[in-house]
Amino acid sequence: MSTDRKAELAANLAEVEARIAAACRAAGRARDEVKLIAITKTFPASDVALLAELGVTDVGENRDQEAGPKAAEVPGLRWHMVGRLQRNKARSVVGWAHEVQSLDSARLVDALAKAVRAARDAQIRDEPLDVLIQASLDDDPERGGCPLDELGALAERVTHTGELRLRGLMAVAPLGADPAAAFERLARAGEALRKDHPNAAEVSAGMSHDLEQAITHGSTCVRVGTALLGGRGLASP
Ligand SMILES: *Cc1c(COP(=O)(O)O)cnc(C)c1O
Repeated sequence: MSTDRKAELAANLAEVEARIAAACRAAGRARDEVKLIAITKTFPASDVALLAELGVTDVGENRDQEAGPKAAEVPGLRWHMVGRLQRNKARSVVGWAHEVQSLDSARLVDALAKAVRAARDAQIRDEPLDVLIQASLDDDPERGGCPLDELGALAERVTHTGELRLRGLMAVAPLGADPAAAFERLARAGEALRKDHPNAAEVSAGMSHDLEQAITHGSTCVRVGTALLGGRGLASP
């Protein structure tokens, strides 16, 4: 059973790897400029363990309640929070996440900084938390993200905490629009951010269906769920 699943995941991973490599080649970029994060939400920890055996190093989840136990079950990986995050989950998230990619409000900056400080005081962690600011490319507050014209102010707030390390930007392409144009806007926002924050070099963009366009437009990190693990069904996020 798990041998079958491992073979299935290996085949999917090989296919995703080939797509990333081809997109990098087409864009004249080196393969190692783009990191793959396996988005394992709704799939069991056993799948995460198999992906780790196949060489996956980075995994992402979108719900704290689900991710915490999984991260505890499969140690040795780098865990990324990529979903909407409520302030009251900050303390729990800093217990398992190495990076939060979905930071999109001043209140969340303050809550995460406070949680990291508490975790350091309690000697639960000794590192600051890496964060990406999630940029809104569709001006739809329901889908999360910071408006592009507010990124600078939010970035300043992040760097002043001392507990959070600003690594770059993340975005989800708008529904029903050309992803290439959206990724281009994100790339320009990233360039502008790096004028004041040269270490904020990460651009997390591209999912199963649009990773090629994202890589063409400068993504340094693709977040792939369906193409690696299969469909999540109708009820899941
Ligand atoms: C679920 C999710 C993904 C992965 O999406 P797929 O289409 O399954 O590859 C990427 N990013 C975020 C923020 C997600 O919630």
